[in-house]
Amino acid sequence: MKTPFKPRELAKFQRTLLAWYRRNRHALPWRASRDAYRIWVAEIMLQQTRIAAVLPYYERFLENFPDVHSLARVPQSEVLRLWSGLGYYSRARNLHAAAREIVSRHGGDFPGTISHALSLPGIGRYTAAAILSMAYDVPLAALDGNVARVLARLFAIRGHLRGPGHWRALTCLAEQHLARSAPGDWNQALMELGETVCTPRNPRCAECPVAGHCRARARNLTGTIPAPRRKPRAVRVRIAAAILRDPRGRTLLVRDPGAHDRVLFSRMWQFPAIEVSRQPRVELENHIRATLALDGSSLSLEALPAARHGVTFRNVTLLPFLVELPRLPKPRRSRALPLEALHRLPVSSATRKLAAAAAMRDAIVH
Ligand code: SF4
Repeated sequence: MKTPFKPRELAKFQRTLLAWYRRNRHALPWRASRDAYRIWVAEIMLQQTRIAAVLPYYERFLENFPDVHSLARVPQSEVLRLWSGLGYYSRARNLHAAAREIVSRHGGDFPGTISHALSLPGIGRYTAAAILSMAYDVPLAALDGNVARVLARLFAIRGHLRGPGHWRALTCLAEQHLARSAPGDWNQALMELGETVCTPRNPRCAECPVAGHCRARARNLTGTIPAPRRKPRAVRVRIAAAILRDPRGRTLLVRDPGAHDRVLFSRMWQFPAIEVSRQPRVELENHIRATLALDGSSLSLEALPAARHGVTFRNVTLLPFLVELPRLPKPRRSRALPLEALHRLPVSSATRKLAAAAAMRDAIVH
C-alpha cells in the first residue's frame, strides 16, 4: 500500500483541486441541479459512452421522462426507442426496471443508502457512489477509469490499473483522500482532471493544479503509469442481412433469436440476418427461405454497400441485401413498416446502418 498524504498535504491538495474544479468545471446539464433522478440518468448514459455522444440523448430523454414516475409508467419498448443509437441497451432495460422499483419500493425517491442503491438493477459500486455523493453528499469515493489513472500517477503505482490488487489499493487511496466536506464536487473534480488534464496519453502536467503533489511527475514516470492493458485480439464477424421490401415500400423487421442477436441487435427489432462465412448471398438466402417460409418464391438478392460496425472486441462487417417481394411474409414476432419509419421502433445502430445502405441505394437509383 502506498503511503497517503500527511494531513497538512492532504488539506492543501483537496483545497487546490476543489478550487480548480469550481473555477474550470464544464457546464453540463446534470450538474445544473442536485436532482438524484437527473444525476442517475446521466451516470447510466455515461457508462462506456463519451459526454458529447450522451448530451443529445440526455436532453431528449428528460424531455420525454422528466421524473422517475414518467419513466416507470411507460413500456420498456418506449425507453429502448429513445435509447436507440446510444448502444449497450441493457443499461436502458435496467434503468427502466430500477425506475419501477424506485416507485414501488422507495416512494419515488432514489434511495439514499449504498445498500439500497446497490440493490437496484444496473447500479454498481461506482455508479452508486457517484449518485449518492453528488445528489445527497454521502461521503463515498467514486472510482472510475479516469480517477484510477489520476491516483495511480499521484502515488506512482506501477502496472496496469486492473492488475492484481491494484484496483483495491486505488479504492483505498480514493477513500483516504476523499474531501468529506464536498464529496460530490470532489469526485467530479478528480474525474474532470482525468478527462481534461491527466489524460491517458501525454498528460498536460504543466497545467495540472496538483502537479506539486504528483509522485509520477517527480520521478519522471508519467509516460509509463499506468501500464497499457493488453487488449484481446478483435474477432472478425460478417453478418448478412435481408432488407425485404414489398411494392408499397414496406420492409420486414423481426425479433430474431440468432446467436448474433444479443450483441449486435441487442434483442431489438432487426432485419432478418445471419452470420456468414464464404458465400453470404447463398447463406442468407437459405436462412430467409427457412425462417420466413419463402420456399416457393423466386428470390433476387441485390448486394448493397457493406458497412463496418465495431462492437467490443468484434470487427463486424454488415452485408445488406435488398430483396424485392410481391408480398412480405408474416412470421411470428414481426413488424412491417416503411423503411423511413424505422425510428418508430427500438432498433440498434447496426440496424440503422443497414437501413441507411438501402436508403442510399434508392437515392442513387431514383
Ligand atoms: S502532474 Fe501530470 S501526471 Fe501528475 S496528476 Fe497532474 S497531469 Fe497527472
